[in-house]
Amino acid sequence: MSVSHTAVRPEEAAPSSWTLLAQRVLDGHCLSDQEALAILDCPDEELLDLMAAAYRVRRQHFGRQVQLYFLMNAKSGLCPEDCGYCSQSKVSEAEIPRYNLLSAESLLDGARVAAERQARTYCIVISGRAPTQRELNAVCEIVPQIKDRYGLHICACLGLLDHEQARRLKAAGVDRVNHNLNTSDRHYGEICTTHTYEERMETLHAVRDAGLEMCSGGIVGMGESHEDIVRMARALSELGVHSIPVNFLNPIAGTPLEGRRDLNPRFCLKVLAMFRLMCPDREIRIAGGREMHLGSLQPLGLYAANSLFVGDYLTTKGQAPDEDYQMLSDLGFEVVRMDRMPDNVQTHDQDAGPSCDAATPRAGGCCH
Ligand code: SF4
Repeated sequence: MSVSHTAVRPEEAAPSSWTLLAQRVLDGHCLSDQEALAILDCPDEELLDLMAAAYRVRRQHFGRQVQLYFLMNAKSGLCPEDCGYCSQSKVSEAEIPRYNLLSAESLLDGARVAAERQARTYCIVISGRAPTQRELNAVCEIVPQIKDRYGLHICACLGLLDHEQARRLKAAGVDRVNHNLNTSDRHYGEICTTHTYEERMETLHAVRDAGLEMCSGGIVGMGESHEDIVRMARALSELGVHSIPVNFLNPIAGTPLEGRRDLNPRFCLKVLAMFRLMCPDREIRIAGGREMHLGSLQPLGLYAANSLFVGDYLTTKGQAPDEDYQMLSDLGFEVVRMDRMPDNVQTHDQDAGPSCDAATPRAGGCCH
């Protein structure tokens, strides 16, 4: 049986407006607020065109590569702040583990698991407004040992930092500090009253001035407007952050935002596409809430984003690492490997996945 092919008419072959926008971004155009809002309002029937446009930009800067991160919740709960999304805050009644800073052995063991899981970056996260002197000393002491033994990049997420604290982290070998803006300047007071957006900005300036890389992102789905999401993305772009974790609110039971469900998977994809076109050459990570909100559309998110957490979040479970590796393999994407793989780490092929679940310490989400 012969198959007849209908000729494609020129108007049908014309690139979509999203493709043209992506090309302009690749040519150096800076996304306007109106264009960013139009992306968030993209009709669902144009979603694949939008994701293809985002992928053009992602491919230009990152090819098929994916960076994996591993979170270690090094101190959990006991926080005097009142961030409404956070299970570790003083106003949260969530049932979570609460403990002070983990021992050096536990932090080293977490680094081993991170290396086994092909993560290039080990994120040491402690709850709290800011690190105590003892906590800062402990992080500064363990980082050289982790780097020497496992060769991992280190991201420290310790809360508010001043210039001296940032300089100490830099001197200890920390590569990057995470401190999220979380939302826009004008929405910030709705989610937290015990510290300000400006204090978060000051921490990021201290991090930058110390010569550390900045990791900063936000949480979508906390009652903000589309304009707030665009304002946050603009602020991150202007700050020049290296890495942007995009969280989708997990409305954990016992937190003030419990039960809030404003998102759907298609909108989450539009958010990721907007971040890619706003910050074309920045690392964009699908962070907390990935599994809950993207659901079966998770793979599509990686056409805009180029990074994932592998394993659990701070106080909530993530997808099993084997499923992440399978997803990346199915997509034909490659995990970025460490420059040198330490002899004492038993790694696992991407297709096979790791076998270290039983040894995994309690790890978990992007909080601060
Ligand atoms: S996000 Fe950080 S500062 Fe805010 S309540 Fe949670 S642990 Fe405390």
